[in-house]
Amino acid sequence: MYKVKMSDYTSMRTGGWTNARIITSVDNLKYNGALIIGRGTNVLFSDVDYDGEVWIMRNDRFTVNGNLVRAESGVSISRLARTTASMGLSGLQWACGIPGSVGGAVVMNAGAYGGECLDNLLNIRMLTEKGELLLTRDELTPSHRKTLGLPNGVILDATFRLISDSKATEKINNFDSLRRKAQPSGRTLGSTFKKVGNKSAGQIIEDVGLKGLSVGKSFVSDKHANFIINEGDSSADVRSLIDIIKLQVYAQTGIKLEEEIIYAGEF
Ligand SMILES: Cc1cc2nc3c(=O)[nH]c(=O)nc-3n(C[C@H](O)[C@H](O)[C@H](O)COP(=O)(O)OP(=O)(O)OC[C@H]3O[C@@H](n4cnc5c(N)ncnc54)[C@H](O)[C@@H]3O)c2cc1C
Repeated sequence: MYKVKMSDYTSMRTGGWTNARIITSVDNLKYNGALIIGRGTNVLFSDVDYDGEVWIMRNDRFTVNGNLVRAESGVSISRLARTTASMGLSGLQWACGIPGSVGGAVVMNAGAYGGECLDNLLNIRMLTEKGELLLTRDELTPSHRKTLGLPNGVILDATFRLISDSKATEKINNFDSLRRKAQPSGRTLGSTFKKVGNKSAGQIIEDVGLKGLSVGKSFVSDKHANFIINEGDSSADVRSLIDIIKLQVYAQTGIKLEEEIIYAGEF
């Protein structure tokens, strides 16, 4: 166990100190209720030191057997998408450029460009406080940026059934260039809010005129209004900005925005 600063393990580059284990192998683990983090690309960690144990998944192995791909939870979902596409396998293209891990993608039902994580998922192996279990795709329910039906525990690995496709790399390159055009760079958690019906939260925020709005050194991106970019070191500022966006959007449109990002610790 180490003392780590969560700002070193989250893409927003904010967050206080905690006791953490860096998990490099999913073998012989005993789950104890710790908070699990993949790449920290969807979690806003409090500036207040976290009074609990965090496991940071940095396990990084995967195997390809015909169309079946089994990846440990710490594998980069984007790298998995790119590698499997280069082997002529389709089904994970949506993940190209998403900076999270396989475990985080399963929990969030991450997705883009019409595809999402549960589309090609076959099963996951999890460890809970009661022991190990195998959950098939049918036991899970996909919803927008959340997988329902997951028990409290750590995802050890996920198996996907992909499809042979000679155009897999072409498709991934296409999504990659779309993402490069649409996505701002900088310290961010990606989309802050969920879609509202079929309406993009970014469009709603832009229509209300909130592009460029800032609190401290965090601001609403001019390129994509659903992205908050942080140039400081304060989760509290990011959280205040989120609250102001929600209030202003509600006041002007009656729409209640709901966070896609997850909060960890005390706010
Ligand atoms: C620049 C940028 C672009 C993005 N674009 C997209 C996009 O297009 N589409 C999209 O859906 N998301 C996008 N995201 C958000 C994010 O990358 C995804 O949600 C990703 O799947 C999160 O993975 P992670 O490993 O970072 O998870 P984390 O942020 O570390 O964790 C997310 C959740 O998963 C849980 N978790 C993580 N790993 C495990 C595990 N092994 N076992 C149990 N629980 C676990 C955590 O407790 C937490 O609840 C983007 C983020 C950024 C910064």
